[in-house]
Amino acid sequence: MTPKKETTALHRDTLAVREAVARSQYGENSEALYLTSGYVQPSARAAAARFAGEEEGFTYGRYGNPTVASFEQRLAAMEGTEACMSTASGMSAILLMCMGLLKSGDHVLCSQSMFGSTIKLIGTDLAKFGVESTFVAQTDVSAWAAAVRPNTKLLFAETPTNPLTEVCDIRALADIAHQSGALLAVDNCFATPALQLPVTLGADIIMHSGTKYLDGQGRVMAGALCASQQLVTEKFLPVLKSAGMTLAPFNAWVVLKGLETLDIRMRAQSANALALGHWLEQCKSVQRVFYPGLASHPQHALAMRQQSGCGGAVLSFEVKADSPAQARERAFHVLDSMQVLSLSTNLGDTKTLVAHPASTSHGRLTDAQRQSAGVSQGLIRVAVGLEHIDDIATDLARGLETL
Ligand SMILES: *Cc1c(COP(=O)(O)O)cnc(C)c1O
Repeated sequence: MTPKKETTALHRDTLAVREAVARSQYGENSEALYLTSGYVQPSARAAAARFAGEEEGFTYGRYGNPTVASFEQRLAAMEGTEACMSTASGMSAILLMCMGLLKSGDHVLCSQSMFGSTIKLIGTDLAKFGVESTFVAQTDVSAWAAAVRPNTKLLFAETPTNPLTEVCDIRALADIAHQSGALLAVDNCFATPALQLPVTLGADIIMHSGTKYLDGQGRVMAGALCASQQLVTEKFLPVLKSAGMTLAPFNAWVVLKGLETLDIRMRAQSANALALGHWLEQCKSVQRVFYPGLASHPQHALAMRQQSGCGGAVLSFEVKADSPAQARERAFHVLDSMQVLSLSTNLGDTKTLVAHPASTSHGRLTDAQRQSAGVSQGLIRVAVGLEHIDDIATDLARGLETL
């Protein structure tokens, strides 16, 4: 858990490499990795005070670790929140948030375009414990407003979404939440604090899958909730202590170091994605490109305003076809013709990852559900990495030009 901090005058670039460097007596320049599950207490009295929460100090690995605390403090500084609570994965961050804020009979309002596991966790798993939920159209502000109930405690949005990169208006959703006494949480996985600061637009909680761009090199699982000190101390920490979705110190260290290069990676990968989007729009075999950085995107203006003028590193496109069966066959041909890029459903790596959502991430949905999510058989998602843009385009052209 992050100790409360004075707001600092340093820029985010500086915080990304300098915040929360707690040096040991050896004066190491790089952040130390503390692999320990327990801590030796200086005295029985101190141990009692620490366990009672009356004195600062680590007691047990499930409750806290210096390396984990450094990651939390640095991410909080970059998101502009008072505090942060990290977790073992992005999904366990969402579980922690829901367990901390909701009880049986409460209602959560989400977008229907949220990450698939998020829809499953909130719509199915939490429903078993009496938590009610409604899923509305991502970009329709009036649908969000109309779905609020007296027992609505939480609005949860993700922007841009996967795989169609739909963008929602964070400030408008924050207003709707606050007018009804609810909180707004934003899944900031796709944009990251390098491009988008939801807290400056009124969001109360920023949720992360550190597995994606925060690590940035596809190495470890991690998650986090950035929020006020009060939410972290009173709502999240007690659940983490008993439920134990704790981030491992090694994973925290990897993600902590990943934060140092987040900004330059996001800008370079977004520039590659924009160039690839323009190239795909010229391809004769491409039906449509979905990318917030392109003028053709329905929420282009909002995205540019909300995401520091950057579209992000993920785009999707549809291959032309006469039928869903042909579309699927053509998409598979494009994927199987690649020689350089990775056929992988993950995202947030320096390596470009290409996937067919309809048969993988959205494969368990019914045809009707897939259709309402806009995931057609011809859709291909590209999480653009740091390879040279010409090599990325050439690898996709192998299949696109031989359909
Ligand atoms: C991957 C992802 C998650 C879940 O994170 P894990 O670290 O895989 O548990 C949540 N939201 C979005 C947008 C994601 O891409």
